[in-house]
Amino acid sequence: MNQRTQKRSKQREAILELIRSTRSHPSAQWVYEKLKPRMPGLSLGTVYRNIAYFREQGLVVSVGVVDGEEHFDGFVSPHPHLICNCCGAVMDLPAPDTETIELLTRKFPAADFSIDFRKTTLSGLCPRCAGHKTTTAALSR
Ligand SMILES: [Zn+2]
Ligand SMILES: [Zn+2]
Repeated sequence: MNQRTQKRSKQREAILELIRSTRSHPSAQWVYEKLKPRMPGLSLGTVYRNIAYFREQGLVVSVGVVDGEEHFDGFVSPHPHLICNCCGAVMDLPAPDTETIELLTRKFPAADFSIDFRKTTLSGLCPRCAGHKTTTAALSR
């Protein structure tokens, strides 16, 4: 392995490790900013390229675009996400059990609709933002 290849595989490892170490569903920009201080040779383009590679390999999944940036998840077992409309936080929901899925699909107009929970996102307000709103409302009264 030459030095360049070695450096590249080191960066690749660090990027995957970082994405897997957090449950905050980071963006490529976030990964870049976290790694840059200890990897001065790293470019944002490299982070994007590696994430694209991980997605192809099924090691990372896309959560979708939140606040204009695509976010990623290193936990690839199918699970739905909660996205805060206020601060853009992305949180995990446990994958629903078969009983819940049945109940949900039975209530749907098309009972045969099979929901893909890997791509399911629910949006709303996270507890922090909801709490903040309540406080502001209480103060302005
Ligand atoms: Zn929030
Ligand atoms: Zn997740």
